[in-house]
Amino acid sequence: MTIEPDFSEAAPAAEDKRPAERPLRPALWRGWRRRCPNCGSGPMMRSYLKVRDDCPVCGEAFHHHRADDGPAYLTILIVGHVMAPLLLWAFTTFRPDPMVLGTIFSVGCVALSLYLLPRLKGAIVGLQWAKRMHGFNQT
Ligand SMILES: [Zn+2]
Repeated sequence: MTIEPDFSEAAPAAEDKRPAERPLRPALWRGWRRRCPNCGSGPMMRSYLKVRDDCPVCGEAFHHHRADDGPAYLTILIVGHVMAPLLLWAFTTFRPDPMVLGTIFSVGCVALSLYLLPRLKGAIVGLQWAKRMHGFNQT
């Protein structure tokens, strides 16, 4: 004979302690624009990739973020999936000189990566803020 544990009383108490949800889509969009995911007007970055410790407008703390390698991973993923088929199409359609093709696609890959990297970092910080990951669950 087995006795099943009864979790019916423990579940509501755990749910009550959860903080209110933060909207994900506005947080991602504000992060993509490199703005504070909380107020949408304060700048998130203090240089090209450095995230501020807190928002200068609303004071929301950003130092909890753990973007780590995520933005670089997503940048490589997107740039590779956009540029590789484009490279194949350009090569088979135009048959350009290899130096011309290499130069154009090298500059294109670097430019697209530099465009995407800070925006994806902002979006990841926005995601972490919205999902209350790491230290973002304290307020
Ligand atoms: Zn703010």
